[in-house]
Amino acid sequence: MKHGKEEKTTVLSFSNPVKSRLGGETITRCYQCGTCASSCPVAKINPQFNPREIIKLSLLGEEAEVISSDAVWLCCSCYNCQERCPQKVEIADVIYALRNIAFEEQHSPDIYLEFASALMNNGRLIPISKFLEKKRPDYGLPPLQPTGVEALKKILSAIGLGGQSQKEEAK
Ligand code: SF4
Ligand code: SF4
Repeated sequence: MKHGKEEKTTVLSFSNPVKSRLGGETITRCYQCGTCASSCPVAKINPQFNPREIIKLSLLGEEAEVISSDAVWLCCSCYNCQERCPQKVEIADVIYALRNIAFEEQHSPDIYLEFASALMNNGRLIPISKFLEKKRPDYGLPPLQPTGVEALKKILSAIGLGGQSQKEEAK
């Protein structure tokens, strides 16, 4: 019976940190029925992505595999899976919890750091050229308002993105 006890400890080793995160609370309700995978539009076009598999690996304690792969970043947060899960596992929110862990472990795709860096510097994800600004009245759009970059900097620093986005800028 010792083996059984060891197995139980292993199974819960990664799901516990996920479960204790905002959004990850429901992960241990999963009984691997696969409804999420069959409802997922991303899984339909990308065989690399399978929400049931992400949950399974997390429950099995395969932390490194889950957070170092690109899979958790492929979810488009449509919540199809979450609406259909018979166990009411909040799958999209579990994936957000996994992304937060991946980010803390420095496994996020560079594009997110680029976004943070753009926000930190300009208050916008995408720079807007003077040409486009001048065109706004032609389309009945009001002038752009200041972006509140200082407030954004405080928020990004508070959530730990300040330092990482600066590293991205230095690349
Ligand atoms: S639908 Fe729910 S219970 Fe079924 S595999 Fe997905 S998360 Fe698990
Ligand atoms: S929320 Fe993510 S995992 Fe769920 S169905 Fe949509 S893309 Fe798939």
